[in-house]
Amino acid sequence: MSDWENNVRKAVPYIPGEQPKSTGVIKLNTNENPYPPSPAATAALEAFNTDEMRLYPAPDASQLVDAIAETYGVKSSQVFVGVGSDDVIAMAFMTFFNSDRPVLFPDITYSFYDVWADIYRIPYEQIPLTEDFRIRPEDYIRPNGGIIFPNPNAPTGVLESVETIKKIVESNPSSVVIIDEAYIDFGGTSVLPLTEKYDNLLVVQTFSKSRSMAGMRIGYAIGSEKLIKYMNDVKFSVNSYTMNRVTIACGAAAVRDRTCLEQTCAKIITTREAAKKELAQRGFTFPDSMSNFIFARPRNIPAKTVFEKLRLRNIFVRHWDKPVIGDYLRITIGTDEEMQALYRALDEILQEG
Ligand SMILES: *Cc1c(COP(=O)(O)O)cnc(C)c1O
Repeated sequence: MSDWENNVRKAVPYIPGEQPKSTGVIKLNTNENPYPPSPAATAALEAFNTDEMRLYPAPDASQLVDAIAETYGVKSSQVFVGVGSDDVIAMAFMTFFNSDRPVLFPDITYSFYDVWADIYRIPYEQIPLTEDFRIRPEDYIRPNGGIIFPNPNAPTGVLESVETIKKIVESNPSSVVIIDEAYIDFGGTSVLPLTEKYDNLLVVQTFSKSRSMAGMRIGYAIGSEKLIKYMNDVKFSVNSYTMNRVTIACGAAAVRDRTCLEQTCAKIITTREAAKKELAQRGFTFPDSMSNFIFARPRNIPAKTVFEKLRLRNIFVRHWDKPVIGDYLRITIGTDEEMQALYRALDEILQEG
């Protein structure tokens, strides 16, 4: 190693799902939405004046912040926006997880949490889920430097109740509890209303899944004015201009379109419920999903084999070569046509054995 390399901040990065360069791929591997975003986003993009590109964007992204605040019935001072919820959560780690006590999150969860904890040198403890992938609130009632988990959880799709989360938030008045609601619009109940009562609860959501705008990179957090103020102080100490002008304009237009959101989610939920039957018929077992994916374990054939054989047929799903979750495939819910192609491919693969 060169001398200077001893002083490098070493990181083991998060590995996102593959984005294939070729066309003709049925892409069920990164929980993208198969349907288009709101027509209001298209209109905002067409109306965008490129002369504005000369100018820095509003550092507070107020147009987008106000639109989100209006949509969710909170004050603008309770909303923080970032470049996808990954950026929002990274900022939240830096802001709120700043003690010597370990941050708690499940052992099976979004695999970015331990990466952020490592890069920011935050101690953490991974709490085992139950056999059926549930969170036991009692496990989160002990000294800690913060708590985070997704609801529904990823990659399991399992939804926890508002009561469970309320219990965890209430029992931890000395920590910030972050609930990552990336998939809440697919049938879950958000804990957003609890932010009015608990000033240590931060709820994070994203435009990437339910709003079909993963490529625009918009995430947001809603919480008490105090939490948001602390996050903004950190953000303005790192990079003032995270949200670009095009994103702000398209995001502000899209978030107001409740109808598009509801219709898109309803379609995905219908396809998901049908997929549960189709996969069960083919011998797959899975925890009940309330997200836009199913975490399914094939019978009599390794998940990795199914993953590889689907890939050869240009159908991409997600597989992790790790203990426990390695027995499963995470399959994003696509259009009905895409799912039919998946079932046909699975029939062939299972027959081959
Ligand atoms: C997809 C996802 C995110 C990040 O989404 P962004 O595209 O960065 O908004 C965050 N948390 C979980 C659990 C996710 O699945």
